[in-house]
Amino acid sequence: MADIKSTRPLTHILLTKIVFMTILFAVAMGAVKSFQTYKTELNRFNQLAEAFSMAHVPLLMSELLNQDKVAIEKHLWLLVVRPEIAAVIVDASSGQQFSAGYITAPDQIDLDVVIPHPHIPEQQIGTLRVTYDTEYLHNTLVAKISLELLELALFTALIYLLIRYIMERNLNKPLQQIAQYTATLSPKRHLHPLVITRPKRRWRDEIDQVIEGFNTLRKSLTRYVDERDRAMAALADEKDQLDHRVTQRTEVIAHINEYLDMLSRISARLIDLPQPEFPIGLRKALYEVAQYHGANACAIANCNTGEAWSWRFIWRDDNAIVDWVEGQLLPSPGKSKGWSISYDKKLPNTLVCCFIGERDSFLLALHGMDEKARDQQERRLAQMTAEAFFKLTERWLSLSELEKCRKELLRLSNTDSLTNLANRRHFDHVRQLENRRAQRSGHPLSLLMLDVDFFKAYNDHYGHDKGDKVLKKLAAVMDEQCQRAGELVARIGGEEFAILLPDQGELSALAVAERIRKSIHDLNIEHRFSTHYRVTLSIGVGTLTQLNQHTPQDQLDSLILRADRALYAAKNSGRNCVVKETDLVHTDTTVEQT
Ligand code: GH3
Ligand code: MG
Ligand code: MG
Repeated sequence: MADIKSTRPLTHILLTKIVFMTILFAVAMGAVKSFQTYKTELNRFNQLAEAFSMAHVPLLMSELLNQDKVAIEKHLWLLVVRPEIAAVIVDASSGQQFSAGYITAPDQIDLDVVIPHPHIPEQQIGTLRVTYDTEYLHNTLVAKISLELLELALFTALIYLLIRYIMERNLNKPLQQIAQYTATLSPKRHLHPLVITRPKRRWRDEIDQVIEGFNTLRKSLTRYVDERDRAMAALADEKDQLDHRVTQRTEVIAHINEYLDMLSRISARLIDLPQPEFPIGLRKALYEVAQYHGANACAIANCNTGEAWSWRFIWRDDNAIVDWVEGQLLPSPGKSKGWSISYDKKLPNTLVCCFIGERDSFLLALHGMDEKARDQQERRLAQMTAEAFFKLTERWLSLSELEKCRKELLRLSNTDSLTNLANRRHFDHVRQLENRRAQRSGHPLSLLMLDVDFFKAYNDHYGHDKGDKVLKKLAAVMDEQCQRAGELVARIGGEEFAILLPDQGELSALAVAERIRKSIHDLNIEHRFSTHYRVTLSIGVGTLTQLNQHTPQDQLDSLILRADRALYAAKNSGRNCVVKETDLVHTDTTVEQT
């Protein structure tokens, strides 16, 4: 609070100081003037009194000589008439004294004038003593000094008013305007110049210099504000651009993350897919990738070294103008090894990512993409997709190859190499399955046991090679006669065969056996050492009908045993015949009893 100062006009302060100094000066001047006036007036009084007295001395001289007392007193009263003289005394040499006026102080003699003898110059006849009127003298002095002081005061007042007017006009008002202008100064864009209303002059003074200084300052401020605004605008612009770039980059990163998520999800899904479901899974994945890139068709083609390119997997929506077909050949996309990513020249809006490898080559085509797909980054994403899909396809192809090999191996392990029928191992496996199935379903299960008649003799006579050929022919006939689902023909020994007939009862089995026997008989393969002079078969038929009475294994063993017995009976019955187990004389039917 102590720092807050009240505002006082500069003019007022300056004038106060001037007035104060003027009063001091006036007082000093007054004192000097008064003293001078006092001196002057006193001199004037003396001169006046002296001149006056001297003028009256000759008259008084004659009057004293004449001893004319009345005249002397009259004369003295004439002298006292003067306002400056308070009393006049004439001391005659004769000792007489004449006086006029009022003596206030008896000892006060202000002027002594000798009255000489008219004829004897060195003799005096009296003395004229004059006493001044001190009150008059005082009043005169006071009046004169007052007048001078009044003049001085009036002069001072006049000077004060003049200075005040001049200062108000020339200093105070401009300064106030400058102060008001200064208060408006701020770093704004539009600052008006400082204009001050002043009387016209032919010269420049400090106020003009201040105005010029302020106008220079205003220009500098305006320039500074302009530069600052420009810099701020540029900064804001740069910030906007930066924000925009950050937003774009964030979007791009989010986009890439989203894409990578999708790709890793697809890859994980495809890896986990069972091998046969891979094609469907991959087509779905191609759809997802096409959706992502805004394409309306997406396809993979591949080729092995030296082979032609062909489409492998395709996804396409109804609007796609491409006519890609799986398996369809396509012209070789290029020969340079490694990656190439380009737009197909013949097909518009089709991005082709191609990889030419040492052994396998792949191609991913995206058709009818958005403009954004022309972005370099979209190409990289497309290449990543292609890389992932190529690897997955390669893996799937390897797995397919492996599966094919596995199946072939399995087939070989279950197949008799001479006749291409199921071998004993496979027969044993299937009969177990069929037995259990029959057990579960309650359906019948029949078994034919077949044996070539006098085959040793055939081999011995015609040779082993011919014997093999016969075995192949017989196998073909048996296979041909057993085409219903589930029927299994197997070579279970050298010239022994077995046929499983699921869901077939004895009658049906007998019919099948008879058809086979007859077909082979009708082949009419010469066999000189057979009782029938041709190659024939003996067939034993066994059927399981009363299921669930025994354990599955017991039942199966029982079935084989019974079919074997029937075959044995057929051999004994002259061969080239079919014997069903139920025709035999049953001593026992269970395994335990056999
Ligand atoms: P049966 O009518 O009683 O069955 O008389 P069989 O001569 O057929 O029976 P046997 O068991 O005595 O002789 C079977 C013959 O089958 C012995 C062998 O020469 C012949 N054989 C076995 N396996 C093969 C084969 O893989 N190829 C050829 N060519 N002959 C075989
Ligand atoms: Mg045999
Ligand atoms: Mg035989």
